[in-house]
Amino acid sequence: MPIINRIADFHEQMTAWRRDLHAHPELALQEIRTSGVVVEKLREFGVDEIVTGIAKTGVVGVIHGQSGKGGRAIGLRADMDALPIEEETGVEYASVNPGVMHACGHDGHTTMLLGAAKYLAETRNFDGTVYVIFQPAEENLAGGRIMVEEGLFERFPMQQVFGMHNWPSVPEGKFVWREGPMMAAVANIEITVTGKGSHGAHPNDGIDPIVVASQIVTALQTIVSRGIEPTEGGVVTIGHINGGHIYNVIPETVRMLGTARWFKPEVGDKLESGVRRLATGIAESFGAKAEVVFDRAYPATVNDAEATQMTLAAARAVAGEQRVEAMANPTMGGEDFAFMLQAKQGSYIMLGGARDPNEPRVHHPRYDFNDAILPIGASYWATLAEQLLARRDS
Ligand SMILES: [Zn+2]
Ligand SMILES: [Zn+2]
Repeated sequence: MPIINRIADFHEQMTAWRRDLHAHPELALQEIRTSGVVVEKLREFGVDEIVTGIAKTGVVGVIHGQSGKGGRAIGLRADMDALPIEEETGVEYASVNPGVMHACGHDGHTTMLLGAAKYLAETRNFDGTVYVIFQPAEENLAGGRIMVEEGLFERFPMQQVFGMHNWPSVPEGKFVWREGPMMAAVANIEITVTGKGSHGAHPNDGIDPIVVASQIVTALQTIVSRGIEPTEGGVVTIGHINGGHIYNVIPETVRMLGTARWFKPEVGDKLESGVRRLATGIAESFGAKAEVVFDRAYPATVNDAEATQMTLAAARAVAGEQRVEAMANPTMGGEDFAFMLQAKQGSYIMLGGARDPNEPRVHHPRYDFNDAILPIGASYWATLAEQLLARRDS
């Protein structure tokens, strides 16, 4: 069973939904219009129940199969939020909200799950229950964690939960999977170096935090290269540095922001202790002071082996054996579906969207979700549900 014909029938409709969502992007936990659109569509599809207000703007749709309530249940999750990026695609349905953009394809994720919900509510060719989970705030604010904390799995008891992300570096329509760690754990780093301000012509009167910060940035590069087992993955990146205002003034403080990524908890511990030790030690050796915040934001996204096999069967049915490929290495990107996978058996899969090899990647101001994959993703969701909740009488 490749792309489901009935879903292919509403490809044009799904494209219109996706472009409407794209034009009206909303930041994490502010997905008011977006979740309103989701609720309106789920109502129109005739799903059995719609629950709103979980993790503020989150929505869960409940779709029972032929046998009604009871029996097995699974959750299918899509994210809804956009990013604080100024869009440069130039498409006619570009963002109308300045500085906010669907640059990660969550407009496409929401649409693919809506497409599946429409089909599942119409055909009900399964036994048990499908929960369609529309999650807010995947970017930075951990909507996935909030949903779990607000009782997602207690209020909607399910055996497995599944996630999917479009991936613009993989050819259009190809699925990429991985068992075990797939995406990295993430910590946000904030380092504030406090020295002593002075006239730029009289550096001896002060303690220059810019010089201290420079030494820290350089030293941080050795944490992974010298401190972590070479075959393990790890990243420490400083992405922002800010201090001073003018040519000839040594400022009092410098603030740096960065990110750390890893898979194994012991690597995360080493990155944290390395950042703390080097920043505070170097600052102290110059007579300055460094304050370090190492905020562990997302755990690693780890796919369950059994659940991954379930996703493979569905992906192969939709895309064909040749277009389902194991991922050679996990990615250092982070994903808050990790919180759902910590609480529930499940797996996360990537769906390729590349029209050409130079396609701008996610989080790029010229990235745009590829509408050609909408029926593929929606068919994957529907097939996964029909396979896992197969009717006993069929
Ligand atoms: Zn993203
Ligand atoms: Zn994303």
